[in-house]
Amino acid sequence: MSEWIKSSVLVVDDSALQREFAMALLHELGFTNVIQARDGLHAQEVLLARAGAPVDIVLSDLDMPGMDGIELMRVIAKQQWARNLIVMTARDPRLLDAVESMAQEDRTIRLLGVLRKPLIREQLMHVLERVNIESKEVDSKQDSVLFSVAEIEKALLASEFIPFYQPKVDIITGHLKGVEALARWQHPELGLIAPARFIPVLEQDGAHLMKQFTFALLEIVLRDLSIWLSRGLSLSVSVNLSAQSLNDAVIADQLARMVEVAHVPPRCLVLEVTETMVMDNLSSSIGNLARLRLKGFGLSMDDYGIGYSSMQQLSRCPFTELKIDRSFVDGASEHAHRRMILESAIDMGRRLNVTTVAEGVETEADWRLLKNLGCELGQGYFSGRPMPASELLVWFKESRQRLGGMFNE
Ligand code: C2E
Ligand code: CA
Ligand code: CA
Repeated sequence: MSEWIKSSVLVVDDSALQREFAMALLHELGFTNVIQARDGLHAQEVLLARAGAPVDIVLSDLDMPGMDGIELMRVIAKQQWARNLIVMTARDPRLLDAVESMAQEDRTIRLLGVLRKPLIREQLMHVLERVNIESKEVDSKQDSVLFSVAEIEKALLASEFIPFYQPKVDIITGHLKGVEALARWQHPELGLIAPARFIPVLEQDGAHLMKQFTFALLEIVLRDLSIWLSRGLSLSVSVNLSAQSLNDAVIADQLARMVEVAHVPPRCLVLEVTETMVMDNLSSSIGNLARLRLKGFGLSMDDYGIGYSSMQQLSRCPFTELKIDRSFVDGASEHAHRRMILESAIDMGRRLNVTTVAEGVETEADWRLLKNLGCELGQGYFSGRPMPASELLVWFKESRQRLGGMFNE
């Protein structure tokens, strides 16, 4: 049986009947760790009493006397009492869209889905399965514990940072078009550590350490890339740049020198910078972006959709790719609000004549939607998780059958 049924669930509903129905469904699905609360206030008491032991999932009604589901959601996010939330309601579907956009603003809590009452077993199971996807990738409890500058400096000296690669795939044909390099720390005692625990430290430390880190990772990336190219794989590698690198006056020349030494064509290296990073300092970053483009590098606007850049601002930036943030991609097939933003982002990419990439595609339904909306590339757990360089060729062979077959219908 899968891991996710071990998750602890709190069911909150003021109707005893509905509450028992939800509990019965959860038991049927194999959940054993299920607790309940009569309404929002009672839920707050129950969670408070657990003192520092958050539940995995809260399944809450929206419309309740005293403290309603929306208020409860706010408190839970603020206190970090749970990481995942499922909302159920018998009310107007438009209200569900509002709840969704609210949850989206808040990045500390994950809205797994919004369900209409009465609950349907298959639908409940479907949203619950999303917990699994999240928890496999990073240990959520460890997520926020940062390392110190000294620890990171030591790891840099010992070359403990390595890239994992996640495939970027043509949505229509299923063919591999590129990979994104995502940093991992191979800690000698703690194992593999996610970037959320060291990138923020590097970002705050100032330009020096971050640059050292970026260049160390790039060395490995360029070595891997030149091997793939020599074996006849036609692909590009995307690397994330920090705000510091974007404002570094010599970065374009240094990167040009690095690809030259590695015998890699600059167009095979794509530099990802986030929308907010660029727009925060548009006038200072634009010169650097233009120089990187002149040298022939690909440029991707990452996390697109979170910022609020206008068409006018976007058209001034020499991007080759628009990468739509995963908060608008994940679950877009089920949620009207996300789908709307997704559609307009794809449309924006088309008008700007750049490649559109959707990140965080987890399900076949979202993949199909992206295909219908005309998005060009997809990246996400559905097509492939981030993996070590040594696994990419194996993935490549396996996925051609799986993804290719699926889309030749
Ligand atoms: P990002 O650039 O937005 O990278 C995408 C993140 O989404 C990655 O997390 C990836 O593992 C995750 N992801 C991919 N597909 C899915 C999916 O289907 N579902 C879900 N839920 N997540 C998915 P990761 O590897 O933990 O990286 C987090 C962030 O750390 C990156 O976000 C990037 O901002 C930063 N980062 C990673 N490596 C580097 C680096 O070398 N340099 C810099 N400056 N930042 C980096
Ligand atoms: Ca990225
Ligand atoms: Ca992103």
